[in-house]
Amino acid sequence: MLTNVVKHGLERIVGEANCSFSKEELLCYSYDATNTLHQPDAVVFPSGPEEVSLVLKMANSEGFPVVPRGAGTGFSGGSLPVGGGVVLSFERMRNILEIDTENMVAIVEPGVVTWDLQQAVEKLGLFYPPDPSSLKFSTIGGNIAECAGGPRAVKYGVTRDYVLGLEAVLPTGEIINTGVRTAKGVVGYDLTRLLVGSEGTLGVVTKAVLKLLPLPETTTTMLALFPDLRDAARATSAIIRARIIPSTLEIMDSVSIKCVEGFAKTGLPEAEALLLIEVDGHKAAVETEAEAVRRVCLENGAGEFRTASDRNEVKDLWKARRAVSAALYKARPGKINEDIVVPRSRIPDLVDGLRGISERHGVLIASFGHAGDGNIHVNIMHDRKSQAEAALAAAEDVFRLAVGLGGTISGEHGVGSAKSRYLDMELKPDAIAAMKRIKEAFDPKGILNPGKIFPGPGPQKRAPAGAGYAESK
Ligand SMILES: Cc1cc2nc3c(=O)[nH]c(=O)nc-3n(C[C@H](O)[C@H](O)[C@H](O)COP(=O)(O)OP(=O)(O)OC[C@H]3O[C@@H](n4cnc5c(N)ncnc54)[C@H](O)[C@@H]3O)c2cc1C
Repeated sequence: MLTNVVKHGLERIVGEANCSFSKEELLCYSYDATNTLHQPDAVVFPSGPEEVSLVLKMANSEGFPVVPRGAGTGFSGGSLPVGGGVVLSFERMRNILEIDTENMVAIVEPGVVTWDLQQAVEKLGLFYPPDPSSLKFSTIGGNIAECAGGPRAVKYGVTRDYVLGLEAVLPTGEIINTGVRTAKGVVGYDLTRLLVGSEGTLGVVTKAVLKLLPLPETTTTMLALFPDLRDAARATSAIIRARIIPSTLEIMDSVSIKCVEGFAKTGLPEAEALLLIEVDGHKAAVETEAEAVRRVCLENGAGEFRTASDRNEVKDLWKARRAVSAALYKARPGKINEDIVVPRSRIPDLVDGLRGISERHGVLIASFGHAGDGNIHVNIMHDRKSQAEAALAAAEDVFRLAVGLGGTISGEHGVGSAKSRYLDMELKPDAIAAMKRIKEAFDPKGILNPGKIFPGPGPQKRAPAGAGYAESK
């Protein structure tokens, strides 16, 4: 609970019209894509770094938590005010401040929606590659804090690879600039990289300098259908082994395909698995690579291979891919979504392992995602009743499997509050201790986004679905 002194203080900092304590409005800032509810005590809409700084200074002196929030599409509880306090929302900081075509750099505020930035730069023949499937609503601030990736990461990398510099407000209120707006720069510690992916626990991003690329001349979109998920997995490894780096290489299993068709009716054919593949670049190179992809898919068991012939077909294929997450609820009312990553060459072993976990725990597992970089969204589907506990046990086994195959428990969704209890499955105690020391140095009073990344005190059992645990994507 905030005192009246704090409430009036917040109103003085951002103006009465730019903060809210009303129950209805607070509810809108109480959730993310994990479907878990934690209500803040206030939501504040700053207009710039100075206001963010004053809020953080007051949080230190008065002792309340502050939680930065983008669009609330996160899958790990990062933007949830788990201990109450003030949510900082960036609706008033949605400006693209500059697009420097000569130096191929964009400077943006954190509330800019990823898609809006992409559209703006593409009009100028430039390209901002990071493309989380949530790109039409997630924000650059949230993308930076989670180091979001997307289908294009296989060729172009993730958000981290495009952040040249930041303006950020430290938890203690200092406004700092990190990095550069030049192609190179190595002065001092790389605080930019430290802040990217820090899940809003080390600083509040108020401005970002982003690297742009030239827009590829052309893109070819292809669909390969397979009689078995394992064949699709083998084809994925074979494409990369053939030294082709597609701009996207996405996989969907039969459960995902059926659910999407029942949900979005985009005309996806029936198959046990499919790969959605794109190659981009100069026209001649794209033609050669597309032909090589076709050959490799057919050699690895594809029963059918199609090349999209027009824009509408491409649009339908992407509509289908982006609808998977929501469509899976057609199969079961409960869903635990994990975004594990394994080395690409181990995807066939992952497929086998997931089959075993599904049989052992008696739960349906649907898999789709960014096969090209080994990042598979494993969705453990359950009835929200008798299967809920088995689904949680299956999720733990999925993490063990990923780590055992040389992978990681999260490729892009982050740890947040949902996965903190599994941190030590992947990281050694000394590494966790070093990370905690960094957090303490930045945020000695622990006011910025507490309860995230590091497990809190007390029993670390994950709550069953619907009672504080992720239900979406
Ligand atoms: C349908 C769907 C598909 C998705 N697909 C992908 C995908 O393909 N790839 C992927 O990586 N993710 C994906 N996600 C997850 C999510 O969209 C990303 O994590 C995204 O980056 C979150 O952005 P947001 O603006 O919604 O941030 P939020 O969810 O609001 O916040 C996420 C984190 O960022 C912090 N934060 C927000 N703004 C700031 C700021 N200005 N300064 C400091 N910290 C800040 C928050 O505190 C929180 O820790 C998907 C989600 C959905 C619902």
